[in-house]
Amino acid sequence: MIIVLKPEAPPEAAAQILDRISGSGLTPLHMPGTERVVIGALGDERILAELQLDGHPHVESVKPILAPYKLVSRETHPHDTIVRIGKMAIGGTAFKVIAGPCAVETHEQMRNSAVAAKEAGASALRAGAYKPRTSPYGFNGHGPSGLKILREVGDELGLPVVTEVMDTADLDAVCEYADALQIGARNMQNFALLRAVGKAGKPVVLKRGMNARIEEFLLAAEYVLAGGNDQVVLCERGIRTFETATRNTLDLNAIPYIKQRSHLPVIVDPSHGTGIRDLVIPMALAAAACGADGLMVEVHENPPAALSDGAQSLFPGEFGTLMGRLRPVVEAVGRQLG
Ligand code: PEP
Ligand code: MN
Repeated sequence: MIIVLKPEAPPEAAAQILDRISGSGLTPLHMPGTERVVIGALGDERILAELQLDGHPHVESVKPILAPYKLVSRETHPHDTIVRIGKMAIGGTAFKVIAGPCAVETHEQMRNSAVAAKEAGASALRAGAYKPRTSPYGFNGHGPSGLKILREVGDELGLPVVTEVMDTADLDAVCEYADALQIGARNMQNFALLRAVGKAGKPVVLKRGMNARIEEFLLAAEYVLAGGNDQVVLCERGIRTFETATRNTLDLNAIPYIKQRSHLPVIVDPSHGTGIRDLVIPMALAAAACGADGLMVEVHENPPAALSDGAQSLFPGEFGTLMGRLRPVVEAVGRQLG
């Protein structure tokens, strides 16, 4: 429920209404604006109706929050949320690029790939130490030693690091080393993990499940916000469709659709979205053009030798080309790169 107070309502009226909401076991949201105070109330709609706030002398209107994802919705938070990952901020008018190899393989591989990402203008590093692989015989990541390498390289280059946490059992270890926690596509509806990262006190990069509808994606983010963490970046990474020419179908419809309905920043992963190196640059440019807040791109010092996702990883020179070609597109839509 959204309760809009009259412009002349005194601060005590807001405090009293917030108390009534929490007193009846509902979750109050205080949203002071420049002209009037808006109050949100989350919980059982029947209890909300019993409060009869529309009769309150300082209340102008009471209307339901229509979206099922209440905290993620722009209805309860009209302005863009800025998510801070180390010294990087995503959201608003900046356009940020997170880049790095699919997985941490060796210190040298990680460092060389990261230097290429940084030199071309990436704002943060990505790489997995825990890898969700379709086959148990694939490279499943180095775990804790991979986290250490990623942190060392990030610190040396002065870049924040984003890495995947696959299991609540690993959460403390990943939190010790990462600036942001990535929840992978396969775990988008791992509700125990979503609740745990809601409480972990670190920003979250939530990837869309490969078979998730947009509403399910936003409801997955709602779990994290409901846990008390609004520092969530949504990442569109493509979905499964009948099309087999590409690894996934990159759903760029989702970008303006979500931006209109949610205050959370949305980035695009054209690497997993296409699975094909030669498609990464064009789809990255398209993502910038349709209003994304940034990109997550796989870059490897030597993609043919990569232990995972080499076919979709850019060579360092290609990543430089991408960054050069992004700038005019980003500026054409009224944003700044980096
Ligand atoms: C990744 O980012 O390397 C990854 C495994 O992504 P996704 O969860 O989107 O498949
Ligand atoms: Mn990958």
